[in-house]
Amino acid sequence: MADWRTLSVRINSVAPSATLAVDSKAKAMKASGIDVIGFGAGEPDFPTPDYVVQAAVDACRDPRNHRYTPTAGLPELRRAIADKTLRDSGFAVDPSQVLVTNGGKQAVYETFQVLLDPGDEVIIPAPYWTSYPEAVKLADGVPVPVFAGAERGFEPRVEALEAARTPRTKAVILNSPSNPTGAIWSADTVRSIGLWALEHGIWVVSDEIYEHLHYDDAVTSYVGSLVPEVRDRLVILNGVAKTYAMTGWRVGWMVAPDALTSAAVKLQSHLTSNVSNVPQRAAIAAVSGSLEAVHAMREAFDRRRRLIVHALNGIDGVDCPTPKGAFYAFADVSGLLGRPVGPDGSVAESSAALAALLLDEAHVAAVPGEAFGAPGYLRFSYALADADLVEGMRRFADWASR
Ligand code: GLU
Repeated sequence: MADWRTLSVRINSVAPSATLAVDSKAKAMKASGIDVIGFGAGEPDFPTPDYVVQAAVDACRDPRNHRYTPTAGLPELRRAIADKTLRDSGFAVDPSQVLVTNGGKQAVYETFQVLLDPGDEVIIPAPYWTSYPEAVKLADGVPVPVFAGAERGFEPRVEALEAARTPRTKAVILNSPSNPTGAIWSADTVRSIGLWALEHGIWVVSDEIYEHLHYDDAVTSYVGSLVPEVRDRLVILNGVAKTYAMTGWRVGWMVAPDALTSAAVKLQSHLTSNVSNVPQRAAIAAVSGSLEAVHAMREAFDRRRRLIVHALNGIDGVDCPTPKGAFYAFADVSGLLGRPVGPDGSVAESSAALAALLLDEAHVAAVPGEAFGAPGYLRFSYALADADLVEGMRRFADWASR
């Protein structure tokens, strides 16, 4: 008999988003007057470019935008996303394959709702973005993490993925440039994963939201371009948040084969209907405009990347590889565990405990590696102002050395 006192097993099996939890706690501390330096959520500190904001202002005044749009998104935006996919990923897709979602996260969620039956497995290269396994579990699927460490640049080996494959394997996630490590996987790795997925009839879910954030000689490799045959089982996830400093506008999308997109449109029609009209108009300006603004932001991120990696590696007990993409530094902090840190000589036995101490005692917010399937690490988003970054690192260094 149903018990009214219990919630579903499904929701009880899911953890809240750790990135958003750290961000909320840091923001609440700030609101109470504590000067917290937030390296928590990956959120560019820049304002959204003016021409994008102007498009939204104009859209607000147009009564056509006070109505519903089609569930799948404004036709002009779907067309612009198809054009952008050709420009960046190097292959043509039809606008009918595009579904506009409330942020990239909704596209992740809907992908697994549409693809998975109970017990289906999804191979997730770890360290992974904290919401992937939870989105899989919300679809009654089984996340299967496959870890690749810093010694191989956090880049998965196809042999390790193959070792994790079972008859229930339905999909594999690609995320390069990667959140949380900032790794960019080589073209060889991306190609070999695409070929492997093709050979075994596995869906490839490629989260390309950090595609334009790459540094030094690294470039983003697109699996749909390197392995054209995989396109009939490829879901591309993307959005405007990271590229155009538009995290709060909540516009993401998926590009997938027609049958999958139609099924996701059906789901979304019962879930949230269309994405708000005005942000869709802003997204059209962003996606169909030039990449000049992102290139300027990338320069700033690059400068901050060097600053933070240098600062982190200057702290005794911290080891941080140099990331080539996104805006995250993923530091091994195992040298700070199990020994006194901070003025009170507190001892953290895990990176989760260390992150809590760092926030409470030094007022520096970072996300613990546990959230990304990588205990012993802390993730620092360096998408914050240079002066804050320097001050935050000074606090961490002083705190750790006392
Ligand atoms: N994706 C960003 C992060 O990892 C934003 C917060 C979230 O949605 O997880 O920090």
